[in-house]
Amino acid sequence: MQQAKIIDGKALARQVKQQTASRIDQLSKQGRRVRLDAIIVGNEGAASIYARNQGKMCKEEGVEYVLHELDEQISEQVITELITRLNSDSKVSAIMVHLPLPDHVDTERIQALISPAKDVEGVNPANIGNIVYGRRSLVPCTALAVMEMIESTGVSLKGSRCVCVGASNIVGKPIVVLLMRHEATVISTNKYTPELADLTRSADILISATGVPELIRGDMVKSGAVVVDVGISRITTPQGQSRTVGDVAFDEVKEVAGYLSPVPGGVGPMTIAMLLRNTVDAAERANFQQ
Ligand code: NAD
Repeated sequence: MQQAKIIDGKALARQVKQQTASRIDQLSKQGRRVRLDAIIVGNEGAASIYARNQGKMCKEEGVEYVLHELDEQISEQVITELITRLNSDSKVSAIMVHLPLPDHVDTERIQALISPAKDVEGVNPANIGNIVYGRRSLVPCTALAVMEMIESTGVSLKGSRCVCVGASNIVGKPIVVLLMRHEATVISTNKYTPELADLTRSADILISATGVPELIRGDMVKSGAVVVDVGISRITTPQGQSRTVGDVAFDEVKEVAGYLSPVPGGVGPMTIAMLLRNTVDAAERANFQQ
């Protein structure tokens, strides 16, 4: 039986962190600190865990991390003023806003306020537009992670057939655009796509980002394909245990695919590494412009 090579997100993330460490070092020799400011509104749930882990990672990597913890009831005006202040503060290299924001806050308006030069999650429409045009910009971290993972396999994108399952603004759509920039033939699918399996079986490179546990089964994958699993879901096993799984039925697909990224230990750690890399990119460009 064929066994897919595992695309090890943790190992790739370590490599990225080594590269960023030397760049951070370089900046600090020039008297420049790299600083990421994150905003979180309300402190319940997954976002606050992510924010804490982010702070820990930044500390380990020599990046200053300032978390602005705002009350759940805060007005949109106060968030607007904070972002405006951070945009013009030269000590701040990078800004991100943790989601979800409360219902009374317009998320897209807030994201559009972040200066494109500091928008390390690539959520300002200006950055998305620049990706389409192939201009230098800050690209959403998960999409960057997926591209790095595909490139790590050495499989050529040019002329390949890629299928992306899931088409959200922050994950699926940017991935599709980045693949197009590499002159791949790209098919974008969503929950209304008929005959999904016929499309996925035709893919040399298959990416799934839906959040539907184990949607991609072994018989939906072409032999030897590169499969990147972005999904993260918590399920309860028949034995009553809670487990994190991806969109891909790992045990089935590893018998068919050429390369496969696991969940956990795949796109997740690489996404965090890409946030760090975007932060350093933003700091270097700000330095260059001074
Ligand atoms: P979303 O809910 O915004 O979008 C889901 C997309 O999947 C939609 O386009 C929808 O049409 C499509 N979809 C849903 N069911 C489908 C089906 N049965 N067949 C085909 N398409 C289907 O989700 P999102 O924010 O893009 O996140 C997707 C998944 O990726 C989630 O599990 C999320 O937790 C995970 N994620 C992981 C990382 C990471 O760092 N690893 C980052 C972001 C998101």
